[in-house]
Amino acid sequence: MEKKIIVAGLGHGGIAAAAQLSKAGFDVTVYEMKSEGTLGYDWTDIFAPDALAYAGIPMPSPDKFEYKENMTFFGPSEHIGYCQHVPQDKLEIKLERRDIYEHLINHAVSCGVKIVYDCKVLSPLVIGSRVIGIKTEKGDFYADLVIDACGMNSPVRSNLPSAFGIEKGPLRHEKITIFRAFYNKASDAEVEAKFKVCLLKDGITGVSWVASEDDYTDLLIGRFADFDIDEVNRFADILRKTNPRLGTEIVRGGQFVEIPTRQPLSQMVCDGYAAIGDSAFMTVPVIGSGIANSLKASRILTETVLADTACLFNIETLWSYQYNYFKMLGSGLAPLAAAKLLLLDLTADEVDYIFDSGMINEDNITIGSDFTGLTKINTNLTDIITKGMRVCKYPPLLRKLPSSGLRISKAIGACAVIPKRYSPDALKNWKKMYEAAFRYNRKG
Ligand SMILES: Cc1cc2nc3c(=O)[nH]c(=O)nc-3n(C[C@H](O)[C@H](O)[C@H](O)COP(=O)(O)OP(=O)(O)OC[C@H]3O[C@@H](n4cnc5c(N)ncnc54)[C@H](O)[C@@H]3O)c2cc1C
Repeated sequence: MEKKIIVAGLGHGGIAAAAQLSKAGFDVTVYEMKSEGTLGYDWTDIFAPDALAYAGIPMPSPDKFEYKENMTFFGPSEHIGYCQHVPQDKLEIKLERRDIYEHLINHAVSCGVKIVYDCKVLSPLVIGSRVIGIKTEKGDFYADLVIDACGMNSPVRSNLPSAFGIEKGPLRHEKITIFRAFYNKASDAEVEAKFKVCLLKDGITGVSWVASEDDYTDLLIGRFADFDIDEVNRFADILRKTNPRLGTEIVRGGQFVEIPTRQPLSQMVCDGYAAIGDSAFMTVPVIGSGIANSLKASRILTETVLADTACLFNIETLWSYQYNYFKMLGSGLAPLAAAKLLLLDLTADEVDYIFDSGMINEDNITIGSDFTGLTKINTNLTDIITKGMRVCKYPPLLRKLPSSGLRISKAIGACAVIPKRYSPDALKNWKKMYEAAFRYNRKG
């Protein structure tokens, strides 16, 4: 009999996995709470296009995308900016979020995937240790495997019984609140950098970007705390001092949303269940890009499912999805999540020192959506020694860096020893080691 797979939520990785599994002969249905044609946000997104090929998805038509500008990173005082140098063959593409969705959905439907819109998923259906389906506003649906692509606040993941051992939700410091809007262009003033990213501007822990496009200015404000529209207006006024093209009228977007910026889920699978995309916290921790990683994960998950020829879909057979995800991507992302915790503790003066003293440079600021680990940051021995000496000259950093270094080493160490085969004890011991790398008490 044809085996049934449910994809809960039309997340990017979920719909990409649905397409591959449907093509391979499974009966796949996606349940999405939004209405047909309303998915995505009213803005553009950036991701590495090789992820599409990896997931067996064709490139969108050339009129739908353009190549992204390099970003220039600044400290709070904006004394000096470091521009990324993304090589030509690694350039990311920029396209409307709704066009990304349309492209993925059309491909999945052409592979035989069924999509049920306007259907809110409420929780998993569970018998014993196994997920057997989903409870939705339109009734209960059963399947041999549930793929959870409901995003960061998935009601499937967060309503799994605690005994399954899967973390329920991100902590406050593990997600960033984003306000993003396109503003009118206030002037034709020349811009020093077309895509400016600023860390800890105004001394506030977070990141902001101002991208000066031909017809509008794209503003993003991200913080590890809640904020409201009054604060957006106050902060935008500060940014206007160094970004005269940033107008005051919102022409598109203008929403608050959240992105996970933490380590991948310590347990992505259990009997009858696998999490993908934001539901498994697959974003690049510092910059929040998650599309490319979700698409790549879809192939790893599909290969795992196809390798389970007896269609058991239990934690033993699904474990190689998590193992291979960590080998390919998670082992690079997790140390970055540990490094991100340092950013939460830095003051504006310290970040300015890092920029002004040259502790970072244009090579090591080149982080993109296909970033797969700290080792990708271009450093050599002389570079490391020079940077070490600069840290020694600045005692506040000297005090903060050892604990950060320890966390990063723990994360690298844990990822290196992720068990290849599942056993309850091996998973329990590994999770303990992995989670220890991210223990963090926010100061202040
Ligand atoms: C402002 C912003 C900018 C971003 N920019 C980029 C970028 O430039 N590049 C990049 O790579 N990434 C970017 N990201 C991150 C990226 O969107 C995600 O990492 C990526 O989409 C993977 O998430 P997902 O598809 O798994 O989940 P989501 O995008 O959250 O999708 C989840 C889906 O499940 C549906 N759903 C949720 N709950 C339910 C429910 N109860 N019942 C039924 N359906 C449900 C939702 O409607 C949605 O369709 C950005 C995110 C934000 C918020």
